Amino acid sequence: MTFGIDDLPIRDELRGKSPYGAPQLDVPVRLNTNENPYPLPEPLVERIAERVREAARELNRYPDRDAVELRTELARYLTRTAGYEVALDNVWAANGSNEVIQQLLQTFAGPGRTAIGFEPSYSMHGLISRGTGTGWISGPRGEDFTIDVAAAGAVIAEHRPDVVFITSPNNPTGTAVEADTVLALYEAAQSARAGTAGAIVVVDEAYVEFSHRPSLLPLIEGRPNLVVSRTMSKAFGAAGLRLGYLAAHPAVVDAVQLVRLPYHLSAVTQATALAALEHTDTLLGYVEQLKTERDRLVGELRAIGYEVTESDANFVQFGRFDGEGAAHEVWQQILDRGVLVRDNGVPGWLRVTAGTPAENDAFLEAVRALMKERSEKEQSA
Ligand code: PMP
Repeated sequence: MTFGIDDLPIRDELRGKSPYGAPQLDVPVRLNTNENPYPLPEPLVERIAERVREAARELNRYPDRDAVELRTELARYLTRTAGYEVALDNVWAANGSNEVIQQLLQTFAGPGRTAIGFEPSYSMHGLISRGTGTGWISGPRGEDFTIDVAAAGAVIAEHRPDVVFITSPNNPTGTAVEADTVLALYEAAQSARAGTAGAIVVVDEAYVEFSHRPSLLPLIEGRPNLVVSRTMSKAFGAAGLRLGYLAAHPAVVDAVQLVRLPYHLSAVTQATALAALEHTDTLLGYVEQLKTERDRLVGELRAIGYEVTESDANFVQFGRFDGEGAAHEVWQQILDRGVLVRDNGVPGWLRVTAGTPAENDAFLEAVRALMKERSEKEQSA
């Protein structure tokens, strides 16, 4: 036996666990991690090079610890697109929204405290909870993957969580959450912790730019315990940049600074993100194309005979594949045809990210062939 993780003095709650790991396989069509399929446009690549060159001249110095210019531009973007005015002191940025979530959990949860999410949802909410020593509570979702306020409220009342995650649009199901649901759960979370400073409710809007509905950002008005988290990984087509941000009451922004590492956002990251924000309009143009492609995927998958969950995101959940391991089998069959989709472990369902029209055609061709094979088999049986 070779020396392994379990021979090290790791924390008990990490023993026997697996790290986050969407397969990074070398296949022609990769539609498995909800990335934007469009490379950044060449003028933006040039602008990034220019801004990074400028930043490089000062790399002997630590970067702006408070990322003031970047947060100002992010606030301007939110104000313009989310229908609610936010300013520098409402916005905080970090290395991906994963780091934003980690900072929130380090600040408002941690050992002796708990967080809840309504599953299936983004698995990192639970994994980052574990990494920060936070107890994780798996809340329920309905058959149609929406959140039932009464059922969710009952679990909140029972467990009195310190942090509540509401992902809208949700990953991996694609379903959006109504503002009324968020408001009801916010109230439930505060009254469950009555007599304390309450609970933090994090609305994870990583995919909101692809939604049919407006952002839930305006709900932060008058609700200092409500936080909206965002990312440049999806709509801005910049997953490799690692830039996430949040909008909330200025007190939340002050609070997360208690746990952030000094100079956590490199000068190169800040320069690159600022360049991307200069090209917002072009990048949002790609988002419109992806929304059209997403709707096409929904329509065509239904026409082929699959069940499809309503999607407000840049991906589509489809099924149903009945029987133990059936979804994984179909995942493998699609992969055998050169297309990588995602098996998130939701029994009976797979998820496909909207790619370029050609990538989506390749995917649709693969699943059409599979469906045809299946019906031929059924007829000859
Ligand atoms: N939230 C959700 C719901 C996600 O699906 C993802 C990425 N897949 C993230 C947050 C994290 O994104 P990033 O760290 O790239 O900003």
